[in-house]
Amino acid sequence: MREINKVAVVGAGIMGHGIAQNFARHGYDTSLYDVDEDILQRAHESIRSNLETFVQAGMEKSDRVDPILARITLTTSLREAVDGADYITEAAPEDFDLKAKIYREMDGYVHGEAILASNTSMLSISGFGGDVEKKGNLIVAHWFNPPHIVPVVELVMGAHTTEDTYRRTHRLLASIGKTPVKVRKEIPGFLVNRIQTAMFREVLSLLEQGVASPEDLDSAVKGSFGLRLGVIGVLETMDLAGLDLMYKGTKYLYPFIDRSLEPQKALVEKVENGQLGAKTGRGFFDYDTEAGSAGGDSKIKSRDKKLLEMLRLLYPSRK
Ligand code: NAD
Repeated sequence: MREINKVAVVGAGIMGHGIAQNFARHGYDTSLYDVDEDILQRAHESIRSNLETFVQAGMEKSDRVDPILARITLTTSLREAVDGADYITEAAPEDFDLKAKIYREMDGYVHGEAILASNTSMLSISGFGGDVEKKGNLIVAHWFNPPHIVPVVELVMGAHTTEDTYRRTHRLLASIGKTPVKVRKEIPGFLVNRIQTAMFREVLSLLEQGVASPEDLDSAVKGSFGLRLGVIGVLETMDLAGLDLMYKGTKYLYPFIDRSLEPQKALVEKVENGQLGAKTGRGFFDYDTEAGSAGGDSKIKSRDKKLLEMLRLLYPSRK
C-alpha cells in the first residue's frame, strides 16, 4: 500500500483549518481548499494565531511557525488540492447534497488508493459518498473542536469501509499524536455526540425546571465529574464507585431523568430570539463582541490556553 505523504483538507472553516494545522505541524505537505480566497486568508491567520498559542504554552518552537505555515498550500481549486493526495479530509458544511457533490467531483481527481475521510458530525458517508467508485476507501474521521488540541478522533466504519482503510487512517492519525477510537457501526451521533447530547438534555431540563442557575449548573459540572473525566472514563468511574452502588443509583434515578424527544423550550426560545451564543454576543451567558471579531474570541483564547496545559499533563507523550 502506498504511504501517506500528501494530505488535503476540503473546507477551511472552524474545523478544516485546525485539522490542516495538525498535519502540517507533523511534517505532512497539506493542501487546504475552500471556495474563496478571503476564507483561506482568514484560515491562514487563524493557524498562525493557534501556533502562537502553542509557542506561548511552551509546546512549539517559534522558529517552526513559518515552516509549518509554508507546508500548507492554500487553493481555491479542488482538483489542485486533491491531485496526488493520499489522504483527504472533507470538512465542508454539514449538508448531504453539498457533500455528495464534492465526493463525486473529488472522485474524478484522486488516485485509486487515496482515502476519502469525512469530518461529518451526523451524516452517513455511505449515503453521500454513494457515487464514489472505491467505496472501501471511504471513512468518517470525526474530529472535535478545537481540532488542533483535542486528542480523540472517532473513526467510523461505513457500510463499505475496508479494514485496510481503517488501519491506514489509524496509523496516520497516531503519527500526528491523535488518539483514534473505532466506531464499529455507522450510528447517528457516533459515540461522543450521543453521550454529550444525553447530558445536554438533562442540563436543559434542569435549567427549565429552575432547579439551578446557568452559572451554578456549569460550575457543578466543571468542578465535579468534568474535572474527573479527563483522568478516569465513565466506565472506570462506575468501577471505582462500585457496581452495586451504580445499580442502586441508576435504578432509583432513571425514572427522574429527562426523556424529552424534542429540544426543550429553554433552548428553542433562545434560538427563536436570535440569542445564538457567543457568535451573537448572548446565549445562556453574555459575550464581548469587539469590532471585527466574533463574540467569545477572548473566551476561546483562554479556553485553548487551559486546554493546552491539561493536554501537557494528561497526554505527556503528545507533541
Ligand atoms: P464551517 O462552516 O466553519 O466551515 C465549512 C467551510 O466549508 C467554510 O469555510 C465554507 O466556505 C466551506 N465550503 C462551502 N462550500 C464548500 C464546498 N463546495 N467545498 C468545500 N468547502 C466548502 O463548518 P465547520 O464547523 O468547520 O464544520 C465542517 C464539518 O465538520 C461539518 O460536517 C460539521 O458537521 C463537522 N464538525 C463540526 C464541528 C464543530 O464543532 N464546528 C465538530 C466536529 C465536526
